[in-house]
Amino acid sequence: MSETEVDLFVIGAGSGGVRAARVAASYGARVMIAEEFRVGGTCVIRGCVPKKLLVYASRFGHEFEDAAGYGWHVEKPTFSWPTLIANKDREITRLEAAYTSTLERYKVALVKSRAVLENAHTVHLLATDARVKAKTILIATGAWPHYGPKIPGLEHVISSNEALHLDELPPRIVIQGGGYIAVEFACIFAGLGSQVCLVYRGENILRGFDDDVREHLRNEMRANGITVTCGHTISAVEKAGDEFNVRLSDGSTIPTDKVMFAIGRRPNIMGLGIDKAGIRICEHGGIEVDGYSRTSAENIYAVGDVTNRVNLTPVAIREGHAFADTVFGGKPTDVDHADVPSAVFSEPEVGVIGLTEAQARDQLDKVDIYKTAFRPMKATLSGRQTRCFMKLVVDGTTDRVVGCHIVGPDAGELIQVLGIAVKIGATKADFDATMAVHPTAAEELVTLREKAFSWSRQGV
Ligand SMILES: Cc1cc2nc3c(=O)[nH]c(=O)nc-3n(C[C@H](O)[C@H](O)[C@H](O)COP(=O)(O)OP(=O)(O)OC[C@H]3O[C@@H](n4cnc5c(N)ncnc54)[C@H](O)[C@@H]3O)c2cc1C
Repeated sequence: MSETEVDLFVIGAGSGGVRAARVAASYGARVMIAEEFRVGGTCVIRGCVPKKLLVYASRFGHEFEDAAGYGWHVEKPTFSWPTLIANKDREITRLEAAYTSTLERYKVALVKSRAVLENAHTVHLLATDARVKAKTILIATGAWPHYGPKIPGLEHVISSNEALHLDELPPRIVIQGGGYIAVEFACIFAGLGSQVCLVYRGENILRGFDDDVREHLRNEMRANGITVTCGHTISAVEKAGDEFNVRLSDGSTIPTDKVMFAIGRRPNIMGLGIDKAGIRICEHGGIEVDGYSRTSAENIYAVGDVTNRVNLTPVAIREGHAFADTVFGGKPTDVDHADVPSAVFSEPEVGVIGLTEAQARDQLDKVDIYKTAFRPMKATLSGRQTRCFMKLVVDGTTDRVVGCHIVGPDAGELIQVLGIAVKIGATKADFDATMAVHPTAAEELVTLREKAFSWSRQGV
């Protein structure tokens, strides 16, 4: 049992932890980082990256079909799930090695072990039973899939973790959940040829997104052959030979080959010893932190999903960087969590930033709404029945564009760029003054002249 001393001990080598470790080390700190699974964390190993690779794969089916309207003759294409998974795994291994060599380059000591807190300054490495003393500790342990209440047959259910490693493409899959992960996996499996049923307990998918976006995407998903069943939950999963019968809360059953739950993720704090270090948890289950990611224990900080603020990779990275700047770089930096652009890599894609119409009505006195739904140009010759949707939410008092919501091809790419305009406070007049790029779908965003409607708070 040996004891080492470091300036910073980081628990978790994911998006937030790796960035924080690297930047702190660049300021001269002696840094050690512990990872119990694979370097890169959720985003690289079992989240954004592998998922996006599967998204790309899932879209080729439509591309082959659409090519016919443009004069191409494509023999009936075939698809190999094992090839896709093997190629995806190779890329993930490459990325993991790149992350590891970055840590090495910055002289961050990497330990492949589960780490738990023994007190506010001591970390216990379970793999070697070693103790490390640290002046500062950063918790960056991320989140883990949550399966909800125990139901009969829950042992048959997979999460997104396992969905990325199935031996074969399931001919039929039932997915429970209505958030972006459930929606994305429903579209991935449907695009690759599975028969997909999405079961969600709420009244519509993508809770928290703009209502028009939710409605538009649900219709598009249905048009792509996905069964979207809202207002129900799965109450049991019964094994019947090689298949499963999924029982819904209304008593009906759905036969299927796989059952996946994507009903939320919980901060990874189980068994971490946070009670021994005096760290408080907030009511939404994450580690409580201030604007500089400092916990209730003076020398312990937490970033990323474990704090349950905005659970996205770029946010975890920004929080990790800001922590290192603050504590080791002498540059106190807080993170602005307002107007974070985000995408849902569904088919079609969703890109959003800022306020939804409902949030704007809640927060502002006057709201102007501009919106349009149209057939994308590419769909004219292909004959595909799909429509783009674009919506601007404008503060009727200041003319500032406070929200932008897009459903359509490359919506994620569009919202990244549009996010700059919204972040710097562009007005609707600024949008109008911007020359269109023709012919594009995005030109609609600067040519939306007619208000769909104006709303004013009563008495204003
Ligand atoms: C299927 C899926 C798709 C996603 N898609 C997107 C997307 O498209 N865009 C986006 O922005 N975000 C996406 N996310 C979310 C994104 O992955 C997370 O927000 C991000 O990874 C959080 O980073 P983090 O540093 O907080 O934690 P993580 O990246 O989860 O890293 C935490 C690390 O800590 C390790 N760890 C945990 N406990 C311990 C311990 N006690 N000791 C040692 N190591 C430990 C874990 O093994 C893990 O490697 C997705 C997530 C999922 C699950």
